[in-house]
Amino acid sequence: MSNIVNEVLAANTAYAATFGDKSNLPMPPARHLAILTCMDARLDPAKFAGLTEGDAHVIRNAGGRASDDAIRSLVISYKLLGTREWLVIHHSNCGMETFTDEVMRGLLASSLKTASIDEKGWRDQTDGTGSTEGEYLDWLTIGDQTRSVVADVRRIRTHALVPQTIPIYGYVYDVKSGRLNEIPEATEIGRAVQTQTART
Ligand SMILES: [Zn+2]
Repeated sequence: MSNIVNEVLAANTAYAATFGDKSNLPMPPARHLAILTCMDARLDPAKFAGLTEGDAHVIRNAGGRASDDAIRSLVISYKLLGTREWLVIHHSNCGMETFTDEVMRGLLASSLKTASIDEKGWRDQTDGTGSTEGEYLDWLTIGDQTRSVVADVRRIRTHALVPQTIPIYGYVYDVKSGRLNEIPEATEIGRAVQTQTART
């Protein structure tokens, strides 16, 4: 087994040894919150949003985009598990800003190996392992973080399966400071038509 897997297993042994009363946590998130954000390794939602086990749903993908699958998770999150407020959080210096669909499709067509990036952009070798399957995926790249947060909040807000009662807030996380900066235009679009007052 690789070193990293062994490190993960050692860390998990230590974690489980102090698991304590977390064995009785209910499945629905205690804080009725769901966050959609990027998979970027520099973002740790539990830390930057002050979450602990049982608190919230955190749905992550490349870019934190409101893909069909992200919306599937959000709908399950409220419909079956009772979340009442959603945050869409994109971030500065996102890898999704470094390429376009065309670039990704070209890279994948020339090779399946890890590409490299320099000041001229992404480059790859042609080694015969490529595939044109990349043509069939929408890579949901990002041109501008503010615009992408606004677009994703709008897509979720206007989705037929999302009730008007759930407020959706839009933020950009700054990887240089750890701060969440609100995108007021997104939050305005995501405003609930009628807010829920009772909290349990
Ligand atoms: Zn990212």
